[in-house]
Amino acid sequence: MEHRQINENYRAIAEKLIAQEPALAYIKDSRVKITYLESDSTKKDGRERLVLGECEKVAAKNRWAIPSDFTITLFRNNLVGLSEEQIKTVMFHELLHVGIEPGADGEETYSVRKHDLEDFKEIIDRYGTDWAGAARKAE
Ligand SMILES: [Zn+2]
Repeated sequence: MEHRQINENYRAIAEKLIAQEPALAYIKDSRVKITYLESDSTKKDGRERLVLGECEKVAAKNRWAIPSDFTITLFRNNLVGLSEEQIKTVMFHELLHVGIEPGADGEETYSVRKHDLEDFKEIIDRYGTDWAGAARKAE
C-alpha cells in the first residue's frame, strides 16, 4: 500500500525556488498554501514511465485533514539516480502546476494549471524536453 508523509526537505527545496525563480513570483505574491509530501509508491504512467511528482488541488471536503490548497508529492523511489538539479527541476515543474487566479475582491481561485505541451514552456526552454531521461516524467 502506498504511504505518503510530509517532507520538510521538499518544502525547503520548494521555498527556495519560490523565492528565487521569477516564473514562480506569482506564488510568492499569493496566500496559497502548499503541503509537500513524499510517497513510497513506484507509480508509473500509462506509458510505463516512472512518475517523479504530482501536484493536486486539495478538495474542499478534505481541507479538515490537509489545511492546504495544494499538495505536491514526489515519489522518492522514482527519484533514485537523479541529480540534485534534476530533483529541483521536478519540484519546479510541480510548482508550475499551482494555478492562481486573483479575484477582484482579494479572493484567490486555485486550480491545477495544465502543461503548455508535454511539459511547461519554462522547463523546456531551460532544460529541454528530455531533462529527466526517456523513462521518467513529472506529472
Ligand atoms: Zn506536469
